[in-house]
Order: sequence, then C-alpha cells, then structure tokens
Amino acid sequence: METKQFKAESKRLLDMMINSIYTHREIFLRELLSNASDAIDKIYYKALTDDTLTFNQDSYYIKVTADKDNRLLIITDTGIGMTKEDLENNLGTIAKSGSLAFKKENELKDGYDIIGQFGVGFYSAFMVADEVSVISKALGSDEAFKWESKGADGYTITPCEKDSVGTEITLKIKENSEDENYDEYLEEYRLKSIIKKYSDFIRYPIKMDVTERKLKEGSENDFEEVVEEQTINSMVPIWRKNKKDLTTEDYEHFYSEKRYGFDKPLKHIHISVDGAIRYNAILYIPENIPFDYYTQEYEKGLELYSNGVLIMNKCADLLPDYFSFVKGMVDSEDLSLNISREMLQHDRQLKLIAKNINKKIKSELLSIIKNEREKYEEFFKAFGRQLKYGVYSDYGSHKEELQDLLMFYSSKEKKLVTLDEYVSRMPEDQKYIYYATGESNERIDKLPQTELVADKGYEILYFTDEIDEFAIRMLMSYKEKEFKSVSSGDLGFEADENQDTAAEQQDNKELFDFMKNVLNNKVKDVKVSKRLKTHPVCLSTDGAVSIEMEKILNAMPN
Ligand code: ADP
Ligand code: MG
Repeated sequence: METKQFKAESKRLLDMMINSIYTHREIFLRELLSNASDAIDKIYYKALTDDTLTFNQDSYYIKVTADKDNRLLIITDTGIGMTKEDLENNLGTIAKSGSLAFKKENELKDGYDIIGQFGVGFYSAFMVADEVSVISKALGSDEAFKWESKGADGYTITPCEKDSVGTEITLKIKENSEDENYDEYLEEYRLKSIIKKYSDFIRYPIKMDVTERKLKEGSENDFEEVVEEQTINSMVPIWRKNKKDLTTEDYEHFYSEKRYGFDKPLKHIHISVDGAIRYNAILYIPENIPFDYYTQEYEKGLELYSNGVLIMNKCADLLPDYFSFVKGMVDSEDLSLNISREMLQHDRQLKLIAKNINKKIKSELLSIIKNEREKYEEFFKAFGRQLKYGVYSDYGSHKEELQDLLMFYSSKEKKLVTLDEYVSRMPEDQKYIYYATGESNERIDKLPQTELVADKGYEILYFTDEIDEFAIRMLMSYKEKEFKSVSSGDLGFEADENQDTAAEQQDNKELFDFMKNVLNNKVKDVKVSKRLKTHPVCLSTDGAVSIEMEKILNAMPN
C-alpha cells in the first residue's frame, strides 16, 4: 500500500500560526531577537571548534532601528547568516527549525543556550508587519540573498548586495486600524521596554539609537537632543553570576528594578542547582506585606525564564500557598515549552523545581530563626498568619513541614517564641503545652484560667489570632507534647490538687443550682474549683471546642 504524505493548506496554516499561537503581539520582537542571538551563538560555537575562526566578543551584536517616517523596524545581527538554501528551508518551511537541526548535528548539550526549536517564531513578525524582508549573507559565502514575503501569498528569493556576514530583517509595520495600534512598535520607549521585558538577558548586546535630552556643553539651561547608540539589555543575568561576586545592594537593586515590591527585601535566596534538574533562582522574602496580600486580588507566583528568555510573568505552580509571599524568578534550561513558548508542555520538571524551591525557602527561614532571631520575628509578624493557614489547610498535610516555623507570644518571655523553644525548656513534670485564647495579650494576662498554670511555673502560649487554635488542633501535638487550653476542665495536673471537692460540692448544691438557674441554664454545670487563686470564678470547657473557638464557629456563616 502506498503511504501518502499529508498535504497542508500552507496559507491557512500560516494564518493560524500568525494569529492564534501567541497571546501577546509584542513577543514578535522576543522571537526575532532570540533568532539573532541563536545566529551569533552558532558562530561562537563554530569558533570553538574551528581554528581559522576567532570570536571577538566586541564584533558580535544585535541592533534594533526604527524608521518612523517609513514605518520600518529593522533588526540586524552579525550572526552566522543564511545561504539561499537556508532561506528556502528555514524561512520557506513552516515548522522547520534550522536551530534545532544545528543543535542535533553538533550534539550540543550543556552550556549552549540555543533557543530556537519549533521553527515558527519567525512568522510572528507578520502579527505586526504586512511585509517582511530578510537580507542575509552566510559565513563563508560571498553572495547575499534577499527573502521577501507579504505573508500568506508566499515569498521570493533574489540575489542582493550585503557587505558583512549576518542578517538584516526589515518589517514594514502595519497601519493603525480602528481598534489596533501598531505605531507603538516604532516608538523608542516601547521598543526599549519590550526588549527589557523579554530579552534582557540575551547574552549579546542589543543596541538601539536612543534620543536623549542633554544640557548643551557649557550651558546651564540650554538643552539639545542627542542621539546615542546604547546597549539596552543587561546581558549577564544576575542569577547566573557567582554569589561571591554579588552584594546585598545588587540583590536589592534587582528587587526594585523588577518591581517585586516597593520595600526592601528582608532576605534574598540565590539558588543554583546543577543536578537532575538544572535551574537558577533568586527569591525574596519581602519586608512588608504587599497591600493586597490578604485579599482575593493577590496573585502569587514567580517569574519563569527559559534560558534567559521570559516565558511567564507569574508562574503560580512554583509556590505553595503558604509561601505565597515569596517574590522572585526562576530560570531553567530544562523546561519543555509549548509551541508559543508561553506555557510548559508538561509539568514534571516544574514540579521538581517547585519542590526544590519549597525546601530551600523552608531551610532559609529556619536559618533566619537560628541566626537572625529578630529578623524572623519581624517576618513572622507580617506573614506568620499565612504559615498558620498553611498548617490548617489541605487537612493538615503540610503541618510537619511548617510546625517549626510557627511562633506564638509567650507568657514567660513576653515575646514570640517557637514551639521548639517552648518544649525545650518545659519543666520535667509538665505534660502539656498550654495555651490561652483571647482578643489580645492584655486580655489573656487577666484571664483567671491562666493563673494556676502560671503558678505552677508553666509557660503559656497566647493565641490572639483566630487561626491560632485551628492550626494547633490540626497539629495536635509537637514533639509528642499535646496542646492543652488553660480553660479546659482537666488541666493535666489535677492529681496533686486537694481531692476533697465532692463534699463541698454537695454542701453547696442549693447555691449552685440557684446559680445555674439564674444563668438560665447557659452553663452546663457549676462546680467547686481548686484552680483559682485571686479570681472568684472562671469559665471552663470540657469538650473539644474551646470558648474562643466556639465564638468563631458561631460567627461563621452557615
Ligand atoms: P526556531 O527559532 O524555533 O528554529 P524560527 O521560525 O524562529 O524557528 O526560525 C526558523 C529558522 O530560521 C531558525 O531555526 C534559523 O535556522 C533560521 N533563522 C531565523 N532567523 C535567523 C537569523 N537572524 N540568522 C540566522 N538564521 C536565522
Ligand atoms: Mg526562533
């Protein structure tokens, strides 16, 4: 039987390609700059293996020029260029990637950052241009060719003149229509910001002629417009630099440049992992709570880069909810991207990275507890609530993970303490971790129920946040010590109390019944107690729910 080849309606395919793959039109520039960078990378690679070639860093660059009057946007590179056949094969065949082929032919593995792989990015130029021309001269060739196309109708290739090796791509930018603005792709500030956003860490300089208002020489108030060639991208991303070469100021600068927050970060975490999965990350624990943090509007997530090229602004899957306050970015060369390079193809690698990041954040927080106590208290005042929610949520599945990060106000220290600190200084005869709930520390101080526990010399944790008791109940115990409310009926040390309450209870039966009646049976019982010192009476519970918790549960909408 004869196997037939699929036919494709190439016009429609191109149309689909151009109009339905990408959500943001501005990424056409990212695609063209990535191609230019790949082209330079190829020369760089060739120079490594070919003695007749030298790679002088300074002579390799990309240039972006806007010609507003003629509506032209020109992207030039000094890369490896394309022969007539290359133009035919790579730009004339949809989904053909010369870059992927190059990687395979040369068996490039680690360390080479060639970005291209799908063979469709180039056509994104037609999202903003109705005509594209490519003039190219390949390395080792003395002829140059010009590829021209108006999109769906096909392309032509003709010989032309070009002095140096490399490629020059000219886009004839579309006219504005009623609801689409294309002029912006000819505006200097807009181009600069797109380059910064997506291509800041392309390893070769991306240059532009930038107009600046400057003071005239020798004058104090006379300005003139000066055109200067500037490099727009930072090239070496901070996360690829060696930690030893970076200062706290560098990290703070990156934090504000990236607008992760308007505050200064409390702490930065720089991660470089080179194992089963490779990635670099710079994470920040902010100092202040973002204004919308405890609202629905707050979106957690980290920036995600693939090989220095921005793929996603906020990748939520990289952070668990309980660490949703963490800001920063992740860059990995191991991600398999979907065709638009806006999403990941499968999330196995991402899950690995997320897991790893989770671990690093936790161990960083633990080390802050150990080495920078005050800083941690500051942190906990801002974000502790989120951690406590973390303990409570998902049926307590993260409780082991988070219990060492919790802090509560302590009767003994009059400040926040960790559970570990509490347990490690418990007297030998103390069986439980005691806590008291109330609206504020001052109120709890005055609670009659705390007296006896405090009198025994036991420390009490003050729960003033609604979530506190819920979180603790999810934990149940810490280091095998159970939690106990000071207002529970059995405090766990009744044994050494005077047992002789039965007679007293009997003697005063009439009085107690009267009290119960006056209280309209709102209490279950009125009993003699030995636990009070200076207060005549207190409320206690014997069920699973404390008085405070009962209040919250009653206030919850059904
Ligand atoms: P991809 O980059 O995923 O391979 P593209 O559609 O962006 O797909 O580009 C197709 C191919 O065209 C590239 O693989 C490369 O071989 C070639 N190409 C595109 N732009 C350039 C350029 N500026 N210099 C050299 N080759 C290029
Ligand atoms: Mg490409």
